[in-house]
Amino acid sequence: MAHIYDTIIIGGGPAGLSAGLYAARSKMDTLIIERSKFGGQTATTDELENYPGSIENCTGPELIERMRKQAEEFGTKFAKDEITTVDFSGKIKKLVGNKETYEAKTIIIASGAYPRLAGFESELELRGKGVSYCATCDADFFTELDVAVIGGGDSALTESIYLTKFADNVTIIHRRDQFRGAKSIQDKVFNNPKIKIIYDSVVEAAKGDEILEGLTLKNVKTGEASDLKVDGCFVFVGYLPISELFTGKIKLDEAGYIITDEEMRTDIPGVFAAGDVRQKSLRQVITAAADGAIAATNAEHYIENEFDELHV
Ligand code: NAP
Repeated sequence: MAHIYDTIIIGGGPAGLSAGLYAARSKMDTLIIERSKFGGQTATTDELENYPGSIENCTGPELIERMRKQAEEFGTKFAKDEITTVDFSGKIKKLVGNKETYEAKTIIIASGAYPRLAGFESELELRGKGVSYCATCDADFFTELDVAVIGGGDSALTESIYLTKFADNVTIIHRRDQFRGAKSIQDKVFNNPKIKIIYDSVVEAAKGDEILEGLTLKNVKTGEASDLKVDGCFVFVGYLPISELFTGKIKLDEAGYIITDEEMRTDIPGVFAAGDVRQKSLRQVITAAADGAIAATNAEHYIENEFDELHV
């Protein structure tokens, strides 16, 4: 018979690691399953200036490693596997992975979100050949070169500032004439001499066969087309939830985010969700970590108060 965990957490980002910490600290038999790298999007973030306490240039990977160690010290176990099927119909929930099948009394889904594509011609063909979705991973390749950044939210602005540490010139291309990102970050962008801004414009195509050579832009107000010679193009146009696995199994909203109540309960008893995969208004490390703590605490309450009463 398979080992039955008290809780299995799907995803090893801030929500999952925080859930692991709280669950293990409550003496729950806890497993975190991560399919690739711990940390999710936080692992690709250079500076976390708005996470309380991280005042000394704390990077995403450093914070994640501390969270992982802390959860481990309290007894959280970890598995590297990709879950391909879930069965939430019984009292014991089942997860089928590429390597193993897992069973638990409760599940906490913390699978996060992934970068949205901008949708220009040759975007996928030139991905990894000049088109990137992670400045922390790829900025180094563009030392003393010219790069473009697409987007106008916090990610585009924050990562543009980071990219100026490497690239000679960073050109932000935004589809409107106002940024969506926080005013304090906008000020840093406006005051950075290495950053140029092209408003009211979208990228229509990336040029280059083997490697990116430039972008074709279109001004959305005038319809005018122009070329921009760049060596790199970083796309930061938002994120999409990683929730396909749960379609038809739990309640999702129209965009695919998991719907929970304030206690992180989904519509299936014993199944909780936390972090960016959840329908919510603020997707930040701090809200992901808070979600994880709430989900784990309620998973514990569920086992104590409801699990034994179930006869499914
Ligand atoms: P976001 O806030 O959704 O912004 C996406 C940006 O991309 C918007 O400016 C949007 O333009 C633009 N966009 C969307 N689709 C596009 C397309 N197809 N072509 C061109 N532009 C497109 O996403 P985000 O910046 O990744 O942030 C996600 C969440 O993480 C937010 O809650 C944000 O506050 C948070 N975050 C916070 C920090 C921080 O340091 N505090 C850092 C990163 C992220 P419009 O403005 O015209 O819609």
